[in-house]
Amino acid sequence: MAKVALVTGGSRGIGRAICERLAADGFSVAINYVGNEAAAKETLAACEQAAAFKAPAACEAATFATYAADVSDTEQANALLNKVTEEMGEIVVLVNNAGITRDGLIMRMSVDDFDAVLNVNLRAAFNLCKGVSRSMSKQRAGRIINISSVVGLYGNAGQANYAASKAALIGLTKSLAKELGSRQVTVNAVCPGFIRTDMTDALSESQQASMLAQIALQRPGEAKDVAAAVSFLASEDAAYISGQTIVVDGCMSL
Ligand code: NAP
Repeated sequence: MAKVALVTGGSRGIGRAICERLAADGFSVAINYVGNEAAAKETLAACEQAAAFKAPAACEAATFATYAADVSDTEQANALLNKVTEEMGEIVVLVNNAGITRDGLIMRMSVDDFDAVLNVNLRAAFNLCKGVSRSMSKQRAGRIINISSVVGLYGNAGQANYAASKAALIGLTKSLAKELGSRQVTVNAVCPGFIRTDMTDALSESQQASMLAQIALQRPGEAKDVAAAVSFLASEDAAYISGQTIVVDGCMSL
């Protein structure tokens, strides 16, 4: 049986690249999404292709499936975990990737926009970390990888809600690494910089240009650059790395 990985927000962008990469690494992948079923199906097809091409030996044992759930909702998050476990097996790798932005200066930021971002970017990770902690502890194995952001490390004008959620995610990561370490469960965060996805396509041209100007490698990152870091953290080679934050930003935030 292939090991099971659950990736939240796996339908698009960074989440899709993570699903594809974990499939290529030989994992069974549960692809979560909230509303975009067509995109989730595309991820599923990409996983099947990646597994067949890169991990043919493991491929026969691996399974791929899509799961609709708003992971910020505790009931839906728990139902998702139960369904994935029932249908695919115990979850060994959890990637908390689902995220949203509702940008604006704090003077004009509504409480709803603050809450929405905190709920998806932080509460969802809490829901799922809590949900898998018992079974991972029992298995004495598990990898939790939280997708934070460089904005959570350094802040960003116009993103107080987003930066707060991503900074809190790092605090959650470090605390859980300490709580679950004795059970051989590792918990790490990955902080992407400026990665080309639907999320950053929504930024204005001038915002994109100003971010690009700060990147030493002089190009935006690709979703697969982030997926490579996740792949490493999920691998046997990363067994002794926990509570860490890996920045994937082309030397943007140094
Ligand atoms: P994206 O292209 O906008 O994709 C967001 C994904 O999250 C989609 O799969 C979406 O599902 C899913 N999602 C949103 N709300 C959800 C919910 N309540 N429950 C379940 N799934 C939900 O975003 P991205 O750029 O790939 O970003 C992925 C992660 O990386 C986010 O946490 C983001 O904050 C972080 N990040 C991104 C960048 C960047 O430059 N792109 C930089 C730093 C950090 P649907 O398709 O169903 O809507």
